[in-house]
Amino acid sequence: MKLWQKILIGFLIGAVLGLIFPQLAALKPVGDLFIRLIKMLIAPMVFASLVVGASSIGDLRKLGRVGGKTLAYFLVTTAIAIVIGLIVALVMQPGAGFVLKEVDKYEPKPMPNITEVFLNMVPTNIINSLATDNMLQIIVFALFAGIGATMIGEKGKPFLQFCNSVAEVMYKITGMVMSLAPYAAGALMAWVTATNGPDVLLPLAKALVAVYVANILHAAVVYSGAVYLFARMSPLRFFQGMFEAWAVAFTTCSSSATLPVSMRNAQENLGVPNEISSFVQPLGATINMDGTAIYQGVCAYFIAQVYGITLGLPQYLMIILTATLASVGTAGVPGAGMIMLSMVLQAVGLPLDGILLIAGVDRIFDMIRTSMNVIGDAAGAVVVSATEGELKTIPAGVDVGGK
Ligand code: ASP
Repeated sequence: MKLWQKILIGFLIGAVLGLIFPQLAALKPVGDLFIRLIKMLIAPMVFASLVVGASSIGDLRKLGRVGGKTLAYFLVTTAIAIVIGLIVALVMQPGAGFVLKEVDKYEPKPMPNITEVFLNMVPTNIINSLATDNMLQIIVFALFAGIGATMIGEKGKPFLQFCNSVAEVMYKITGMVMSLAPYAAGALMAWVTATNGPDVLLPLAKALVAVYVANILHAAVVYSGAVYLFARMSPLRFFQGMFEAWAVAFTTCSSSATLPVSMRNAQENLGVPNEISSFVQPLGATINMDGTAIYQGVCAYFIAQVYGITLGLPQYLMIILTATLASVGTAGVPGAGMIMLSMVLQAVGLPLDGILLIAGVDRIFDMIRTSMNVIGDAAGAVVVSATEGELKTIPAGVDVGGK
């Protein structure tokens, strides 16, 4: 049986058993073990493969072009994501019939300062950045290291070879760790369904369905369209090739933790070259969060509705703008998108306490938004590679669904 089939089975068995036997919530450590195993690979893998990637991109002009395309893709798809989220919310009216109970007070988070955000991308101590998995700082340093190593020619070779070897080792370990994925997916799903039984889910069912529908629509329209238009890749092949990463993101709720798997899937199953995958995907895991943006749009609408506030065009535009920024600022860890939702609500003038309404089931929202965040980065890597003429063709007969 293929790995993705095993993951799917583990996932379904876990979800069903968790609903029937709430005691299975105790299986969570199995999932946590898996998450720790992948997380241990992130810093060395991203750093080493991006150094190699930057050095093989070689000239700075090309690096700038790839960077520009990547950022344009990220911004455009995120803005479309929020618009889709808002349209779905307008049509489905998730807050209609919701009875507002007393909620506690929610303390607002301060708005990040733009200058500081940019300054913080430059590390003052790379060991510290690696130790804390600070992706943007690792990316900046790795780009410099790769370019520097190329500029010194022969003398840079041993360093590049070393990084190449580190990256290969990390990809290999990712493959080994993935054999645990079916059990981890089962354990995490059992925990989720055991701790979020029907009584928690039902009151918010409409909001959940709206977020799921909007995410699926976004994937079906935007990602399928993008990989087909730019790369002539069949959407089915794209989604099948990324299934492992999708499942890991769905169950771990962390795009950072999924990174080793999603890079491996994009390179091995979709033909994205290392130099583009190692740039676009870690950057995307940090700043490109379409799923989170959709969730923020739908939830802002939902909260306005349950508080009886009618939104006008200026507020919709404000939601599109701030949710794009908020999703850029969201860290790729579980629950981060909900905290950043406070930024959107504050900017639009909606009650922050609304967050507490959805907090109870945030994990269920997080599963779909994280998996869409990861798929969006992979679609970006495919689009950028194709426009650079570097997408490798994988022979049609090869089964891309994993080994
Ligand atoms: N958990 C999400 C991620 O890792 C971020 C979020 O909470 O929206 O991509």
